[in-house]
Amino acid sequence: MADSAFKTVRRRIRDACAAAGRPAASVRLVAISKTQPADKIRYLHHLGQRRFGESYLDEATAKQAELTDLDIEWHFVGPIQSNKTRAIAAAFDWVHSVDRLKIVRRLADQRPADPKSRQVSRQEPLQGPLNVLIQVNLDDEPGKSGCAPDAIPELAAAVAEHERLTLRGLMAIPAPRERYPDQLRAFERLQALYAELESGHPGVDTLSAGMSADLEAAIAAGATMVRVGRGLFGARG
Ligand SMILES: *Cc1c(COP(=O)(O)O)cnc(C)c1O
Repeated sequence: MADSAFKTVRRRIRDACAAAGRPAASVRLVAISKTQPADKIRYLHHLGQRRFGESYLDEATAKQAELTDLDIEWHFVGPIQSNKTRAIAAAFDWVHSVDRLKIVRRLADQRPADPKSRQVSRQEPLQGPLNVLIQVNLDDEPGKSGCAPDAIPELAAAVAEHERLTLRGLMAIPAPRERYPDQLRAFERLQALYAELESGHPGVDTLSAGMSADLEAAIAAGATMVRVGRGLFGARG
């Protein structure tokens, strides 16, 4: 069953790329495995998936400890509490949810310089700088993670100045919209913010946008990374 879900998601990505006149390889898939057991991650890895995303630190590190034999690229996509930055900096390859200066500073200071000092061992130890995406709160939703669009330049400059961080781009979770044209309009606003970021930081290469319900619209508006949970694993319990 996971087998056909994986095929379906990959076909949706291919079709959306084709419709947008983009090569299929221009979009990377992150499997969002929060609330899913380690054996489901292992199975999807066996089918060929390498990028996995988690939202809750304790749950993620428990599963990582069961999967140390696999060459997984781990993405942290959940809200970041400042007392969790040390563990996040040590256990993940990417962080999608950086939204304030305090978090930038802590991740930069706490990213282990020596890959051997990381908490989770595995075949290919985590090395080098932490890949950082700045999360934007596109719809100005109260209580939601993400910085205001006009805070992006200051945060981007702060990430870019740290040796142990690499600025890769932006992430957003727009408010849910049912109709495709409405989804597209929201992602196009994000695309414009990304273009602005890129003009000041030509090295950025990642726009993380689109989930199970709206990945087609995100890809039409330039997403290079989609984060899919339910579409791959089924409904979360
Ligand atoms: C849960 C989650 C997803 C996946 O959402 P689905 O609707 O299950 O595809 C993507 N991104 C983030 C940040 C999430 O928390």
